Amino acid sequence: MGNSSTTHSKKYSPSKSNIWLNCPLSTLLNDGSGEEISPQAEFGTQCHELSSALINKSLKLIDYENESKPVEELIKELDMYSPEMQEIADGYADFVVNTFEFEKTRSGEKPLIIIEQLLKMDFDEDAKGTLDCGIISSMNGGTLTVIDLKTGRIPVYTFDDETKMFNSQLGIYALYFYKAYKDLYPIKKVRLIVYQPVISNTNEYEMDIDDLLVFEAMVLRPAVIRTKEENPEANPGKHCRYCSANAVCSKRAEVNLEITQEMNKAFNLLTDKEIEEILPKLDEFIKYAEDLKKHVLKKAIDGHKWNGFKLVYGKGSRKIVNEDAVIKICKSLEIDPYVESKVAGITELTKRLGKERFNSLIAPHLEMQTGSLSLVPDEDPRKEAEIIKEGDK
Ligand code: SF4
Repeated sequence: MGNSSTTHSKKYSPSKSNIWLNCPLSTLLNDGSGEEISPQAEFGTQCHELSSALINKSLKLIDYENESKPVEELIKELDMYSPEMQEIADGYADFVVNTFEFEKTRSGEKPLIIIEQLLKMDFDEDAKGTLDCGIISSMNGGTLTVIDLKTGRIPVYTFDDETKMFNSQLGIYALYFYKAYKDLYPIKKVRLIVYQPVISNTNEYEMDIDDLLVFEAMVLRPAVIRTKEENPEANPGKHCRYCSANAVCSKRAEVNLEITQEMNKAFNLLTDKEIEEILPKLDEFIKYAEDLKKHVLKKAIDGHKWNGFKLVYGKGSRKIVNEDAVIKICKSLEIDPYVESKVAGITELTKRLGKERFNSLIAPHLEMQTGSLSLVPDEDPRKEAEIIKEGDK
């Protein structure tokens, strides 16, 4: 069995592969130095640890490299442990165990399973990553499955309809899991699965092993070579959002600021065609401006002086700091210090009642509210909105 602590490469992290496969320069700027671990990332790491212990316990797996701790003991060490973490870990552990049992039943043999295993990648000394779960069964001439637990709220897909590419992070894990075991187990099919319970997003993609090997030869290896050139090229795009240099990268700035040149005319003088050319670039431009603002504010708070600018506080608001004293005073005056109780939100009620009771008792009293309108390219998979004007009714 693999280790339970998550280890990732700094430069060639599989989770950042969408950045470095697209932009060679990013490997020089995303070396992990100075990167702060966000509370969400720490929650994710601890949730993976807990899940791993639950799966090991359930499948009676032995971790030869690390001393396995009993689940109860591990929980005491997790400082971000919460009922939410337990729910995610339980759900994921069930999902992995069920997938394992399913492969066992349909192949008639016990599959190989690895949990939280460190995989070293041969394209760079520094390249490595921890695979959440890998299963190999003898189904269909050998089926390799990788399952990735996502604890964040940004939806992650195993296949991108826009680029027609499978998720490169999961692809890299699958490739190196395959390489580690290919001499022992024949493999023909590869399944990539994202398990993302917080937004009820579980999706999978299946391909032939040959597709993965073509990805290695045509995408992965050429991209790594480009990152090792003397002056690696910068290639801005949507992936910049997740690059740690996204606020200070001059190439991203240059490309995004081109839009300001295009907008040099007053808006009422721009033709529809000119506006349609600007529209697809606006989201990236706004994101770039937000990243830049976040960066300059953080530096200013850290003590940097931006010429001509100063830090100020926004409008403050009054806050009760001693609730007990306020309650006592109000009660002594026979005044109710509490506000009316409000009905809890949908997530909270689902938690309190359980999914089944929520669906049968509460769901009939819910109504889907229409979300706000936004303009998206024609290729967007969502259905076009029907706008009903007052006069049309
Ligand atoms: S910000 Fe974008 S263009 Fe610049 S290094 Fe990062 S990924 Fe490349």
